[in-house]
Amino acid sequence: MQERWAMVRCECGRYFGSSLKKIINCPRCNSNKNHKIMKKFSSSESLRDEISKANTPLEIENEITSRLETYEKSTRDTGSIGKELIGIILASSTSDENIISIDSISKSIKELSITKITAEDIIEILEASSLVLRNSNGTWTVFQ
Ligand SMILES: [Zn+2]
Repeated sequence: MQERWAMVRCECGRYFGSSLKKIINCPRCNSNKNHKIMKKFSSSESLRDEISKANTPLEIENEITSRLETYEKSTRDTGSIGKELIGIILASSTSDENIISIDSISKSIKELSITKITAEDIIEILEASSLVLRNSNGTWTVFQ
């Protein structure tokens, strides 16, 4: 079979696949210089396998970790949680007597499949925005 594919190593250290005919720019640094053809392949499948093995798992792990950190930071910022979401949580966790508790909020964020914020966080936001008033028995009264 004809070898139409190449595993290329860029000067930045990233391995990537390309057609042999025309070596593409590096997907990481966009360079088209100092590319080294490491291996030639006749099938794109074996090329793909080889490349995922060549790019070190540690490097990919670092990329994922830093992305997760950015995500966590942005969701922990109360401003990005969104008034809309707070409204939905509030509506589903408030009793007929306009009372909410950590338990009722926990239940509604569980029902809404929200994992990035706790009931305590919600209460904090509600108190900070004067939407609720703390009662002496560990519940809060919601202002309408
Ligand atoms: Zn590169």
